[in-house]
Amino acid sequence: MDVYPKLVIDLEAIASNTEKVAQMCHQRGIELVAVTKLVLADSTIAKTMRFSGADKLGDSRMKNIVKLREGGVPGPYQLLRIPMKSELGLVVRFVDEVLVSMPETAYELDALAGYYQRNLQVIYMVDVGDLREGVWFEKAVNEILDVARKLKNVRLVGIGTNVGCYGGVLPTVENMNILLNIKRELENQLDYELKVSGGSTVALKLLEDGTLPQGINQFRVGEGIILGTDATGDRDIPYLSQDTVVLEAEVVEVDYKPSVPYGELGKDAFGRTPVFEDRGWRRRVILAVGEQDVKPDGLKPLEKGLKVLHASSDHLIVDVTDSEREFKVGDIIRFRMSYGCALRAFTSPYVEKEFKRI
Ligand SMILES: *Cc1c(COP(=O)(O)O)cnc(C)c1O
Repeated sequence: MDVYPKLVIDLEAIASNTEKVAQMCHQRGIELVAVTKLVLADSTIAKTMRFSGADKLGDSRMKNIVKLREGGVPGPYQLLRIPMKSELGLVVRFVDEVLVSMPETAYELDALAGYYQRNLQVIYMVDVGDLREGVWFEKAVNEILDVARKLKNVRLVGIGTNVGCYGGVLPTVENMNILLNIKRELENQLDYELKVSGGSTVALKLLEDGTLPQGINQFRVGEGIILGTDATGDRDIPYLSQDTVVLEAEVVEVDYKPSVPYGELGKDAFGRTPVFEDRGWRRRVILAVGEQDVKPDGLKPLEKGLKVLHASSDHLIVDVTDSEREFKVGDIIRFRMSYGCALRAFTSPYVEKEFKRI
């Protein structure tokens, strides 16, 4: 029995994307951390990425890392989200490399690592302008030096940054050089070499252009590998496949209706005020999928002539007037998804997952 909505996942395409990104990284001495948070740390996808050239697996959630590790998916594992105080015990036992941005977090991890006799590597995050996590770059050298010198059981192995997440700041030669200058100052004082974890999918552009400064030697990539897209850079990555994950949803109503509602208007179910353009009567379908499963504005129909109009919790309305296809109840419509939409679909308990048969 087919169950809908469902995600059809092409492991071959994900493997091939991983291989391509890994090759680009390895050619320039960059370690690749493949990021699993977008796919709810699905262990089949995680294994595929790890065995297709990724050097490590990264996730933002301890639950995901514990699940993968206990499911026998080989690490090493990097924790991407700066940890909560309440999860440090788990971090020390299950993680190999952790991103931090607070001295007190580093000290507490240090104490726990001593207690559990675990080797843990710490990367200190620097904010080069995006305004999410990390010590502000102008204060970074002092703070990081102080932390590195106080650690006894864990080792500060490098610095890292995140861009394109809050401020939408793009990775550039300039902000990568800010990071590299901090690295050099730290190395002079510490007398050992530091890693530089330079970014995510959006930073692949610098690798392609050949403009990435020497010395950035770790990339953490999720979206590019899994969807072949770059949301921050607003592009399909030309040498990667976008046919990796497809959402399939089922038609439950086919009808002609006016394009403007009839009656007195309030807000929609989510407090939004919808706007309507009068286009006369339209042919439309309702799909059994909604805000609980997807982000409707991130759905990209795979066939021509379809326009997603709106979704409430459980119903998605699609205008099919411009399509040549005859729709009937029970038909399946297929979509590609944006990052945000795929994130919601993978994390929704209502969406089935199936691996494409070859
Ligand atoms: C999610 C995340 C990444 C991966 O980002 P993509 O855009 O999916 O490549 C990298 N670093 C951190 C800190 C993250 O949280």
